[in-house]
Amino acid sequence: MTPTETPMVEARMVSKSFGSNEVLRSISLRVERGQVMCVIGPSGSGKSTFLRCINHLERIDAGRLYVDGELMGYREKGDKLYELKPSEASRQRRDIGMVFQHFNLFGHMTALENVIEAPIRVKGASKKDAEARGRDLLARVGLAGQAAHYPAQLSGGQQQRVAIARALAMDPKLMLFDEPTSALDPELVGEVLDVMRELATSGMTMIVVTHEMGFAREVGDALVFMDGGVVVEAGDPRDVLGSPQHQRTRSFLSKVL
Ligand code: ADP
Ligand code: MG
Repeated sequence: MTPTETPMVEARMVSKSFGSNEVLRSISLRVERGQVMCVIGPSGSGKSTFLRCINHLERIDAGRLYVDGELMGYREKGDKLYELKPSEASRQRRDIGMVFQHFNLFGHMTALENVIEAPIRVKGASKKDAEARGRDLLARVGLAGQAAHYPAQLSGGQQQRVAIARALAMDPKLMLFDEPTSALDPELVGEVLDVMRELATSGMTMIVVTHEMGFAREVGDALVFMDGGVVVEAGDPRDVLGSPQHQRTRSFLSKVL
């Protein structure tokens, strides 16, 4: 296989339980390079768990997860799997940016300090280089004037844009978004979606768990509907939203559209 044919993300029959609760049931899907996959589904359907499994923040029980052709969290020897050491798993995770519903910024650091923290600590970047890059990234998300602001001095939409800039500062090859606009006041949703749209246009590979169907339709290359830990339906967003094939999808969409 040539490198260009390797999908950015490939899940093969991934299963995950918490105790007796089967949260992911044999999930198989792939995200090609530069594609945006949106994931929708009711609360508790396993969307967040799936994202966390991709970067091995959760251990899967069965199946395989590959990012950029690399098995996540494990080394394969014959048909045996050996879990990677925490330092090796962190090294894999470094290339995957994650943005959460609740921003998770460091409250005692300015916007710029939040953005440069990981490049300096993890990648050993110099403060001068990290700051120059950090200012560029803050400008890219429309926050050139807020570099010295603390999170508490920023709106939710601004905080989430700092969180996106912070993730980008590590030069990820994949970005995972877990309901990035769900905690925002409605009037602040658009500014965050605009930044995400720009990122998608720039060629970033993204998996976006979202309830924003307009974004999914316009920006998504693929849309996945999850329910009860299974992929019920997946395809072109216009098809899934316009003519859902399954009753469960129709029922969910009738509640959210
Ligand atoms: P979604 O993001 O689609 O709302 P989640 O992935 O958060 O769904 O959760 C799926 C199911 O897994 C839920 O029943 C939830 O209670 C359970 N779950 C998630 N994380 C944990 C955990 N760390 N320990 C136990 N159960 C969990
Ligand atoms: Mg969730």
